[in-house]
Amino acid sequence: MEVAKNLMDIQQKILDACQKVGRAAGDITVIGVTKYVTIERAKEAVDAGVTHLGENRMEGLLEKSEHIEEQAVWHFIGTLQSRKVKEVIDQIDYLHSLDRKSLAKEINKRANKPIDCFVQVNVSGEESKHGVKADEVEAFVQNLQEFSNIRVVGLMTMAPHVEDEAILRHVFRSLRELRNQIQTMNWEHAPCNYLSMGMSNDYQIAIEEGATHVRIGSSLVGPY
Ligand SMILES: *Cc1c(COP(=O)(O)O)cnc(C)c1O
Repeated sequence: MEVAKNLMDIQQKILDACQKVGRAAGDITVIGVTKYVTIERAKEAVDAGVTHLGENRMEGLLEKSEHIEEQAVWHFIGTLQSRKVKEVIDQIDYLHSLDRKSLAKEINKRANKPIDCFVQVNVSGEESKHGVKADEVEAFVQNLQEFSNIRVVGLMTMAPHVEDEAILRHVFRSLRELRNQIQTMNWEHAPCNYLSMGMSNDYQIAIEEGATHVRIGSSLVGPY
């Protein structure tokens, strides 16, 4: 019940954000982030109509995908250690955290089919954050063409934990501009149509700035 109610609230807010900038709500994919909740709670989200689920740890993803029988689309949103690639890569539909060549190489070797990846970008330049630096993204994406099992479907970023809307907007807009720049290259391995950005606290702003995938945990399946 509670999750269904949260979802309705989120859908309304998505609609509002879309209307503000003339986008279609149908172009936004909500990824329900279930990393802090039980399998039961994750199932509640699926029952409420969430079809895309996100986990940030291999163990969590394998456990949930095993127990949730309904068809769900699985997104791996956390840092992926190269040594864990072989266990998880064929269980996921999207990887949101491709941020280094060694990881791409390992995925390329272990995957049985091309994997849809978002390249994670450290737009804000914070030391503590994972991701390719903004000024290195284009070359990074270009170099991925040597890996036939890597398909770059978009870019992903984590915004800094700030309240300041101007800062958040700037980060989201910068990611969109990087995405647009890569799209103009028309690289076959990198259609780069998507933008994975926006979490519970900032998804409306992210949508106004072009997000196609929002990763929502606490306001959907929380509080925790
Ligand atoms: C946990 C997490 C989220 C969801 O965060 P909430 O603030 O709970 O919505 C989104 N993206 C990533 C990468 C995460 O690790």
